[in-house]
Amino acid sequence: MDTPPNPLPDGASVGVIGAGPAGSFFALHLLDLLQKSGRTVRITLIDRKTFSSSGPSGCNMCAGAIGVAMVKKIGALSLPFDPSVIRRVADGYEIHGRDVAVTVRHPERGEIYTVFRGGGPTVSRKDARSFDQYLLDAAVARGAEFFHERVESVERTPAGYRLSFPGGAKKEFDFLVGAFGVNSSVSRMLRIGYVPPPTWHTVQAEIPASNEFIVERLRNRIHIVPGRGKGIRFLAITPKDDFLTLTGIGEHVRIADLQGERERNLALASLLPEGAKIICHCHPQVPVGVASRPYAERMAIVGDAFISRYLKNGIESSHDTARILAEAVTGHGVSERSLRDHFYHPCLRQFRYDNAWGRMLFAIYESVLRKGRLSDTYLGVVNREAAKGNMTQAHILWSVFAGDAPYREIAREAFSFRTLRDLARTLPGGR
Ligand SMILES: Cc1cc2nc3c(=O)[nH]c(=O)nc-3n(C[C@H](O)[C@H](O)[C@H](O)COP(=O)(O)OP(=O)(O)OC[C@H]3O[C@@H](n4cnc5c(N)ncnc54)[C@H](O)[C@@H]3O)c2cc1C
Repeated sequence: MDTPPNPLPDGASVGVIGAGPAGSFFALHLLDLLQKSGRTVRITLIDRKTFSSSGPSGCNMCAGAIGVAMVKKIGALSLPFDPSVIRRVADGYEIHGRDVAVTVRHPERGEIYTVFRGGGPTVSRKDARSFDQYLLDAAVARGAEFFHERVESVERTPAGYRLSFPGGAKKEFDFLVGAFGVNSSVSRMLRIGYVPPPTWHTVQAEIPASNEFIVERLRNRIHIVPGRGKGIRFLAITPKDDFLTLTGIGEHVRIADLQGERERNLALASLLPEGAKIICHCHPQVPVGVASRPYAERMAIVGDAFISRYLKNGIESSHDTARILAEAVTGHGVSERSLRDHFYHPCLRQFRYDNAWGRMLFAIYESVLRKGRLSDTYLGVVNREAAKGNMTQAHILWSVFAGDAPYREIAREAFSFRTLRDLARTLPGGR
């Protein structure tokens, strides 16, 4: 076997900026791979947040919906999925037009788990754990160290990288991983030619809701509602414990856009408890493209600061980029060339081309679902066909908004001659 160019020596130090999903998954995969090959490194996860705290200091700003495929990937790391992390289990999504809604589910992989990324909007339930804390605890239990601090600067050294922290503390590493996410200023500290991905500024708000409302009105499901105003393209309502996370997706969404939707979008208003107050809100960014140069000699950037599936499965994408990096580092070393060939290119192959299909699918469904009467006509067809046992359109909707199938496969199904012919026949005016 070829010696990996610039391999990490046994006992090398690896620093990971960010202990969100990308950072913790990287540590878990690296430790797993090294253990299998009888090697060791010292891996330090660094994060400024406390994922057990409620409010902004513990929260990684996300709707927190994860599918069965993600849970299986966690299982593949021999990690039992802690039930105290799960805040609700939804059996599917409801997709709304103006007056018509359809329920979409996957027959085998229909369950969606909702989680809080931190301690939640108010003091957390005593028996619950946040998703990010669960992953971080698992990485620490398997040998990673955790350093709770904010990274203030990043410098290149002859042997790797030096990080500085408030109060003057410094740490040096042979290999550095940037798992700082797309919402961090660390991107501006790097001098490696890295340019973060283009992003949209979303809005997210937490609204209290009773268990009765969530179970009876929302049927314990995640609801997708097209925006009616200019700012918001889609809204999602994700139930967790006794809260609803209301997410507005669009290029530059302000809280006023969300308030406007609550007042004017009747489908949305009917899905929220009357007069319910927003108890906290944030404007996290979501990547809609790919970063440039997310690697250099002895450094690589994983998670959504590099690349992610277009508008969904962000946590799973972080897992996948982290796993690909751990395999590249253990199998091929940490030289710039190895990281380019065995980390950067495989990630691009997995996500970039497929995201182009995703962008097109979202644009098409947006143009149908945002038009009141057309959306009701289309969703009416989906419901009638489903009642007759033809689940093709329901399955396509599930895949676009929730599923983990590659976007190109969804597009193949959506644009197949048979699907288009059946749709043309069932739409009013069709034969
Ligand atoms: C509105 C919205 C809703 C979403 N909903 C979902 C969803 O339902 N399901 C899903 O799968 N994905 C969802 N996502 C995407 C998901 O949130 C991201 O893909 C995921 O969090 C990326 O993980 P990460 O580890 O790369 O980054 P992050 O989760 O952002 O973690 C980065 C970590 O780095 C730390 N950090 C940053 N800078 C520093 C510093 N200077 N010093 C120390 N620590 C630092 C941060 O504190 C943080 O803990 C959503 C995103 C948005 C914007």
